[in-house]
Amino acid sequence: MSETNPSNTVGVDRRSFLKRASVAVCGVGGVAAACASLAAWSLSSAKRRLPTIVLITLDTTRADHLGCYGYPRPTSPHLDRFAAESLVFEQAISSATWTLPAHVSLFTGKFTASHGVCKALDGELDLEIPQYGPEAVNHYRSRSIAADERMLAEFLSDAGYATAAIVAGPWMKRVFGLDRGFDMYDDENIETVNARPAEEVTDRALHLMSIQAEQPQFLFLNYFDPHFPYAPPSEFIQRLTNSDSSFVSDDISPGLQQRIDRYDAEIMYLDHHLGRLFEGMRSQGLFDVALIVVTGDHGEMLGEHGVFGHPGVVYQEAVHVPLIVKQPRRYREVGRRSGWTQLIDVFPFLLDAAEIDVPEKIQGTGFATVDHPIVIESRTLPGINEGGDWFALIDGDMKFVWSSEGNHMLFDLRRDPREHDNLFANNPEKSRGLDDALHKYLASLPVPGPQTVAPVDRQTHALLKSLGYLR
Ligand SMILES: [Zn+2]
Repeated sequence: MSETNPSNTVGVDRRSFLKRASVAVCGVGGVAAACASLAAWSLSSAKRRLPTIVLITLDTTRADHLGCYGYPRPTSPHLDRFAAESLVFEQAISSATWTLPAHVSLFTGKFTASHGVCKALDGELDLEIPQYGPEAVNHYRSRSIAADERMLAEFLSDAGYATAAIVAGPWMKRVFGLDRGFDMYDDENIETVNARPAEEVTDRALHLMSIQAEQPQFLFLNYFDPHFPYAPPSEFIQRLTNSDSSFVSDDISPGLQQRIDRYDAEIMYLDHHLGRLFEGMRSQGLFDVALIVVTGDHGEMLGEHGVFGHPGVVYQEAVHVPLIVKQPRRYREVGRRSGWTQLIDVFPFLLDAAEIDVPEKIQGTGFATVDHPIVIESRTLPGINEGGDWFALIDGDMKFVWSSEGNHMLFDLRRDPREHDNLFANNPEKSRGLDDALHKYLASLPVPGPQTVAPVDRQTHALLKSLGYLR
């Protein structure tokens, strides 16, 4: 793992954050009591009792490979312990199958059709360096976040929160616009694949949390490790495979088993450093008083249906994500919720927790009553989307999958959770009804405003290319 030195790498942004998360109380007179932790400040503040909020995304982490979602391997002991103290949403579904649109949904409460961040030939995000001619340039364009889109950190910042983000994935780099509203957005040195491992994200987060704040604090953390290529430290592969030799199945080829081992070991490694994060928060007195949400942006196909990776399909393995909510102690709810919910519901839930009015024209409704359709849109980049676009609508137990190539599908998720038995041909009426409902709903959504122009630098382009997103 790389050495970390959080204090000297966040530069100007860190100073800006410090200005808001002021150290003044600590700096004047050096009174020990005044240097109490952020948590103690939060508890004692007479002015504001808004909770510290920590939002964590685990990139590419499918729910069913975590112990708290029933996985038999010991990939996630720390997250399992966290889940036991939290509210676990058993059926949380992403709204997209790649990082950027999924995170925009998380930050806006909107489906892709409404926030508009997806591949598009007329998109402002130029994902190709124009050295291969105009055709290739047009081939790799995506819409960016609309100029008038207000995002989660902007709402929280306007409400008085000090806002900071520490991210690890290339799609999270500020050029894509997810940094809006953050006083500090730490995306520096994400220059190579797996450049910022979980250890570093946790180190930087704990350092940041140790800073005194006059305001309530919003911290967004993005962990990237389970994303391909799977390169966990060897000790985690050994720990995992030594612990459960009985897990190996005769039905799986040695090559596939090795791939699954490495993916699982990435989760185990990430979980180890999540455990350090939670432990550090406990020792700072912050864990109990903070609202902590852990979720994922999308899952990962590990050979199911002959598919690997995540963009370009909407099977459950690619969209079923963890969603675990630990509320501040005085509001604490512990247990499990079995109904459908989506990433778009996190945004109104967090605004509500911060006593901010939820804006109109979003689709997310929070967790108490999820009354929007459960919709997934896979509008991926042409270079990795040979099968065209895929949309899905989940209605109770039934999942209708629409394909731009005409390969529509219908599954009964209760009877057939792995989606092997396509009922489309035998249920034309049901399929037609769900097809109509899906497209009418998407057509009814507010459309995104004008885009902003965001030229993508060569280094970020090269990084995305090395991950297989671009040719
Ligand atoms: Zn992702």
